Amino acid sequence: MKITIPKDFPVRPLKRNQPAEDRATCGTCGLSWDDAIPTSLTPAPAARCPFEEFHDYEPPKLTRAQKRENARRAGHARQTLEAYAEITDIGEDDETTLCDMLADMMHLLGREAVEGRVFMAAEHYEAERRGEE
Ligand SMILES: [Zn+2]
Repeated sequence: MKITIPKDFPVRPLKRNQPAEDRATCGTCGLSWDDAIPTSLTPAPAARCPFEEFHDYEPPKLTRAQKRENARRAGHARQTLEAYAEITDIGEDDETTLCDMLADMMHLLGREAVEGRVFMAAEHYEAERRGEE
């Protein structure tokens, strides 16, 4: 993905060997930035890219098998969410139930471990959505 960031954008992409205090790289666009420089968009939240508005959201071309596999993955998540809703018996909407489930995962695994996993999961999701995994 080749994207151009306007000169007046608050975050500057880093050049390949440009030194940075806290280099972060987007798994989608491949651009890097220095998360140690505070701007309106940085430090970026976990699994987010300050250049997202420039990402190319052209629908990915997946094979039938890749689409089926992603639907199967979504089905696993749906079953997990439904089981969690049944176990906790909270009776909330999906969004609230999902937040509760993720919060409980943080209790189980520890906040930092979950935040790292959320970043990895976002990378996996993007790759699977593009048909790369
Ligand atoms: Zn990006």
